[in-house]
Amino acid sequence: MQQETIISVKNLVKNYGDFKAVKGISFDVSKGEIFGLLGPNGAGKSTTLEIIETLREKTSGEIIVDGYNLDEAPNSIKKIIGVQLQTSGYYPGLNLSELLHLFAGLYNENVNVIDLLDIVNLRDKAKAKFKELSGGQKQRFSIATTLINKPKIIFLDEPTTGLDPQARRNLWDLIKEIQSKGTTVIITTHYMDEAEILCDRVAIIDSGNIIAMASPDKLIDDLVATGFEKPKEVKQANLEDVFINLTGKHLRNE
Ligand code: ADP
Repeated sequence: MQQETIISVKNLVKNYGDFKAVKGISFDVSKGEIFGLLGPNGAGKSTTLEIIETLREKTSGEIIVDGYNLDEAPNSIKKIIGVQLQTSGYYPGLNLSELLHLFAGLYNENVNVIDLLDIVNLRDKAKAKFKELSGGQKQRFSIATTLINKPKIIFLDEPTTGLDPQARRNLWDLIKEIQSKGTTVIITTHYMDEAEILCDRVAIIDSGNIIAMASPDKLIDDLVATGFEKPKEVKQANLEDVFINLTGKHLRNE
């Protein structure tokens, strides 16, 4: 089945002075997929995302988001995307409910704050301050802020970094749930197990170039087809399985 394209990036270039951070990359994101941008630090992932998010100027190239050309209609793009806000924007004196009201006001959106907190399983924290939340709760709240304007596409930048295995799994479920409602998700992560579980397709970026792009399964099959073998016999389980088996899947510190 032909997938409908929601983001099209063609020959995107970004130079910082003489330094070429993004060197003419092209990719499409399909409507409703979870698309992963993977790559070592400094590869150009954030630069690419922030350009699509209209937060950074590109040097050249063409970007179309849901039919809107970035050069002509950046404000129309802003209205249909959800971006995680820097946590420094979470005024320390306000509780979660007040913060969501504030952000909704900035977006000029009418939102039911309790419904929004329900989606990310934080209804009982409505009166808590951001700084009082656990790491997983903080990430879930920051995902809630991306949903305020009922976006067609959300951008998640390393949403599970620093979380314990239970909270990481909980976030995966939440991201899958958001996808199941029809939202397109673009995510960056340094965890390859996470990308394998979550992403329909990934692009691997290195030094400003896309060096591979396909579904995780296809990339793995392609590698195996070259004769690649893991040096050690693969065990039936790994230490993460041991950890989850011993400590259970339920969330902690909640
Ligand atoms: P990633 O998100 O993959 O870690 P970035 O997009 O943040 O990569 O950065 C890509 C490259 O561009 C890095 O070498 C980084 O140092 C450089 N870079 C990022 N932002 C700027 C900037 N504002 N000025 C100069 N160089 C920058």
